[in-house]
Amino acid sequence: MFEDSGFDHTAAIHFRKGLRADCSNCFGLCCTALNIVASNDFAINKSAGTPFPNLQSDFRCQIHSNLRATGFKGCTVFDCLGAGQMVSQITFNGQNWRERPEVAEKMFRVFPIMEQLFEMIAYVAEALSYKASYSLSDQLHEQFELLQSLTKLDADSILALDMMTYRMPINELLSATSEIIRNEFISKISSPKSRRNLNLRGVDGVGKSFKGKDLRATDFRGAYLIASNLQNADLRGVDFIGADLRDANLSGANLSTSMFLTQMQINSTKGNKETILPTFLQRPTHWTDL
Ligand code: SF4
Repeated sequence: MFEDSGFDHTAAIHFRKGLRADCSNCFGLCCTALNIVASNDFAINKSAGTPFPNLQSDFRCQIHSNLRATGFKGCTVFDCLGAGQMVSQITFNGQNWRERPEVAEKMFRVFPIMEQLFEMIAYVAEALSYKASYSLSDQLHEQFELLQSLTKLDADSILALDMMTYRMPINELLSATSEIIRNEFISKISSPKSRRNLNLRGVDGVGKSFKGKDLRATDFRGAYLIASNLQNADLRGVDFIGADLRDANLSGANLSTSMFLTQMQINSTKGNKETILPTFLQRPTHWTDL
C-alpha cells in the first residue's frame, strides 16, 4: 500500500492507476444522486435523488452497451474513481437506498463530496509520482494522508466538510509541481524553434486547430479546448488540469507524459489507436480509427 511507502514514486503511480470505479459494488449512485440537465450528453432531465429510468433493480444499467446511441454519451464519460463503492460499502456499510430508503437522501448528498475527495486524491497521488523537491513531496504526502482520512469519516462528518479549505492548499501544491516538472521539460527542449508561448491557461481554443504542433510543456490549465483539433500534436509535459476537452480530436497525439489528465477528460474526447496516453489512463472503448 502507498500509505506505507513514503515517497515511493512508483507506488504513487500504482496507487493512481488503482483508482477505478467498481460498479458491481455500488448502488448506482451516479445514476441516481446527481442532477442531470438534458443536453447533447444526456437525453433527459433528471433531478438529484431520482434514478435514471434505465437503472434496474439490481443497480445495473439496462442500456449499458448502447448508451451513446441512445443519447446518453455523458454516462460513458463519467468516472467516480472509486467514490461510488466507497460510499456504498464503507460510509453506508453496504446498506442500499432501495432496501433502506431512510438512508437515501443522506447517501445521495455524501456521494458528490466523496467524488471531490477522490478527485483530489487522484491529483495528489499523480503529483507524488513526479520527482519534485523533498519539501513539496512532504507537503503532498501530508495532504494525501489527510484526504484519505477524510474519506473514512462517517456520513454526517463528510457532509460538514468545508471543501474549499482542502482544495486551496492542494491547488497550490499541484501548481508548484506542474511548474517544476514543466520547467524541467522546457530546459531539455528549448531551441529557437521551440520558443513559443507556453502559458495558455484558460485559453479559448474552442474549435481551433493545433494539428501536428509541438505543444510540449504548455500550461493548458482550465483551457477551453472543446472540439479542438489536436491530431498528431506533441502534448508531452502539458498540464491539462481543469481543461475542457470535450470532442477534442486526439488522434495520433502523444500524451504519454501529459499531467493531471483525468479519465473523464479522456472519455470526452475522440482518439484512435495511435494516441499515446499516460499509463494510468485507459483507452476509451468508443475511440475509433479516425
Ligand atoms: S458511482 Fe461510480 S461505482 Fe457507482 S455506478 Fe457510478 S461509476 Fe460505477
